[in-house]
Amino acid sequence: MKVTEAQHKAETKDWSFPECGCGQTTEQIFGKDLYPHLEALADRLFYICHECEAWVGTHEGTDQALGTPATAAHRRLRTEAHARLDLMWKRKMVRDGVSKKVARGAAYEWLGKQLGVKPWDCHIGMFNETLCRKTIDLCSKYGE
Ligand SMILES: [Zn+2]
Repeated sequence: MKVTEAQHKAETKDWSFPECGCGQTTEQIFGKDLYPHLEALADRLFYICHECEAWVGTHEGTDQALGTPATAAHRRLRTEAHARLDLMWKRKMVRDGVSKKVARGAAYEWLGKQLGVKPWDCHIGMFNETLCRKTIDLCSKYGE
């Protein structure tokens, strides 16, 4: 398949130091400073706008941001998406009599496939608003 110029541009877009919605440039910060309880993200780079306390994660092992920094409103969407997905795997635990690890793993695998996100990037804490809304919709549709 021939790669169009637009595709090439999208794939090679430099996402390091993404600009915040407020126009400020972002600074690098490590996951352990934002999510002290998430060991998996401890060494992951994030970009933060100190002006609006908006931040965004990066692809593992790179300094390439996953999107644009998330404001408090955006992070509320992430919280809702998280709560809905938690409900799904907790129901699965009861319904299928499986462990938390199995139920949670299956939920994230399912979500990643639905969203077209790689399993290792399937952390709602890193989702942009579109992915959050899709997660909320998906969990409402299939989780009830
Ligand atoms: Zn900002």
